Amino acid sequence: MNYVSTRGAAPVLTFDDVLLAGLARDGGLYVPETWPRFGATEIAGWKGLSYTELALKVMTPFVGDTLTQDELAAIINEAYNHFDTDDVAPLVDMGGGEYLLELFHGPTLAFKDVAMQFLGPLFDHVLAKKGARICIAGATSGDTGSAAIEAVRDRDNVDAFILYPHGRVSDVQRRQMTTVDAANIHTVALEGTFDDCQDAVKALFNDLDFRDKHHLSAVNSINWARVMAQVVYYFWAALKVGGPEQPVAFAVPTGNFGNVFAGYVARRMGLPVEQFVVGSNSNDILTRFFNSGAMEITGVHPTISPSMDIQVSSNFERLLFELFDRDGTRVADTLTKFRETGRFDVTPEILAEATTLFDAARFDDDETRTLIGELHAATGTLLDPHSAVGLAAARKLRRDSNVPMIVLATAHPAKFPDAVEQASGVHPSLPPHLADLMERDERINVLDNDLHALRAFIEERVSA
Ligand SMILES: *Cc1c(COP(=O)(O)O)cnc(C)c1O
Repeated sequence: MNYVSTRGAAPVLTFDDVLLAGLARDGGLYVPETWPRFGATEIAGWKGLSYTELALKVMTPFVGDTLTQDELAAIINEAYNHFDTDDVAPLVDMGGGEYLLELFHGPTLAFKDVAMQFLGPLFDHVLAKKGARICIAGATSGDTGSAAIEAVRDRDNVDAFILYPHGRVSDVQRRQMTTVDAANIHTVALEGTFDDCQDAVKALFNDLDFRDKHHLSAVNSINWARVMAQVVYYFWAALKVGGPEQPVAFAVPTGNFGNVFAGYVARRMGLPVEQFVVGSNSNDILTRFFNSGAMEITGVHPTISPSMDIQVSSNFERLLFELFDRDGTRVADTLTKFRETGRFDVTPEILAEATTLFDAARFDDDETRTLIGELHAATGTLLDPHSAVGLAAARKLRRDSNVPMIVLATAHPAKFPDAVEQASGVHPSLPPHLADLMERDERINVLDNDLHALRAFIEERVSA
């Protein structure tokens, strides 16, 4: 399997090179040259497989001959060993044809673990084979940083430098990063905002000497391997509710469009999905797009679902590539204009095609808290604010009550205890493996928002 860029002007790469490249050289995102397709009979034959067995089936066509079946199976088994249930992603029946797909059973309590835990051993394998090492540099507003740290801690061929805005992440999120005692993990509390952190990381990547010298690499959500690992749980959930004979619908709380795009990929691979419901918080650029055909940047508003507080949905580019019939030049022109003007529009025909499958709705913090409170009072179930946005969207936009609606629960409520307590009156407690998180020793490295200081910090600590 080869991979092409959504902007049509970067070299065609194999799976292992796409993994290490992250972003394509023309600024685009890598996608498979063609979508692998499974027949209904083949998918039906996967009922009863364990999560890891199913993952092997779904991912095999994407890795091509980069990995043998045994190698891929070993990586998958290592990846999902650290989840607190063999099911990896348990599906909970909420009644009325609604299901909750719990994606928060990994080490850092958010769905990002499902992909990141896979990325860790995958990097290890590919780097060892190539005799290479990398230095991961990333900015986080919370969940991505801790998931990346847990995935690569103590790995021989990887150093990781994770920047977060000093004083602006939750105590739980910060402690999940700063209490990890591993020689290859380095956190930086930058004096600034999340945008400052992102700008600092971008500046490191744009410093080509520095980038080459330290083999900088990224693990943000544009990395194809992360999307690929997320495709699995769409098959998993659909098979549990009667798929592929029974078509299904999914509701996904979205920021960068990475999670819901993985669902779209599952559908392209042959999974019968009738509807995707996209849930936004007040940062509703995607909801406005699906309701108007205009993608338009406004400011970022902080919300109680901070992992969706984004200005631009980077993975949307992969859907745009499909909507434009894989015309990379058109994608590049559209996104160049978007960068210059903060807006692009699609034709009514393209909007109509997108909305045959996607619906979208936005919920502000008050509406989200109301749903968390009402759901808890009615059923005893506690949802985190991100998952609540997904459920709210599902309930507002479900098209067909005969089609099971699977809502993706993307974080454990204890990851956002203050918002959940305010909404429900209940303080959600951390699971056993994190029960002493608030007592663990922290290692906090505060740095000025200054590129020289950051470069010096990295040079001093990176392994030779
Ligand atoms: C990252 C994240 C999201 C958004 O996922 P995208 O792939 O960016 O759409 C939603 N919920 C939680 C808890 C997250 O950490």
